[in-house]
Amino acid sequence: MLGLVACGAPSVNNTDATEDKGLTVITTFLPITLFTEAVAGDCADVTALIPPNLGPHDFQATPSDLTDLSGANVLVKNGLGMEEFLDDLISSADNKDLVVIDSSKGVETIKAAAGGGHDDHDDHDDDHHDHGHGHSHGEYDPHIWLDPVRAAQQVENIRDGLVKADPSCAEGYKNNAEQFTAKLNELNTEFTAKLKPYTGKTFVAFHDFATYFASRYALKAEFLVDLPEMNPSPTDLQRVAAQVKKSGLKALLTEPQEGNRSFNALAKDLGVNIVEFNPLETGSAESAKVPGTYFEVMRSNVNNLVKAIGD
Ligand SMILES: [Zn+2]
Repeated sequence: MLGLVACGAPSVNNTDATEDKGLTVITTFLPITLFTEAVAGDCADVTALIPPNLGPHDFQATPSDLTDLSGANVLVKNGLGMEEFLDDLISSADNKDLVVIDSSKGVETIKAAAGGGHDDHDDHDDDHHDHGHGHSHGEYDPHIWLDPVRAAQQVENIRDGLVKADPSCAEGYKNNAEQFTAKLNELNTEFTAKLKPYTGKTFVAFHDFATYFASRYALKAEFLVDLPEMNPSPTDLQRVAAQVKKSGLKALLTEPQEGNRSFNALAKDLGVNIVEFNPLETGSAESAKVPGTYFEVMRSNVNNLVKAIGD
């Protein structure tokens, strides 16, 4: 009886405490946290470095982030320039044993901002360098997690990294990853069927996040601005207005937190609706703990996309 009580109680004075906790894993932003939580299960303790409601755009590291990183075994990142702030933070943390998992390793990439007509925005970004979202700075578009097939590759990279860092729980990581990638494959099959009638159609998102998603389902993604924190120029607004008329779009796709004002005004001018396509760069702290958030949000995105393109 005493033994049971001791097990459930916090064992601060127990010398085995560190061993019991397992691997300490730090993640960067929401999709990476969701994928890592899915693979880690009960094998590792996962903490997001960036508060999920902020997202990588608005992130500024604090001394406590350094402490987290100094004491962690593993850091998981999206990669492809999405987390520009990390390099400095990692060197400051001075944790020689830290294993860094780049979830984009081996994932097929697309060059950043391939769509023309957005070069006039470079100035807008200067104030935001320190916040480090980095779409326009990285060579490749970082939004790979929005394509379920590439997301599955990210999950496999996370699995391989965790197995290597903690072989004692290898079976757990492998089983968890297998279950999650099976769901991602199901999601891809479902989206392929659902979006087939709209092959070749164009949709308009707020910031430039949808290239991989669009390419997976043979759609074309237009966007108002490169980065979520930007304000659209008159040229951007004209370009999108022309696109909406040309493609007969029923709605523009907004994001939960960013840039809604200019987009809402534009939609009103054009006489179209607005629906949400959530790029999963931010979310609530509770949703970040539940890996199924990914499927829930992506299904809602696709339902809204069909409404936007719809006939
Ligand atoms: Zn983005």
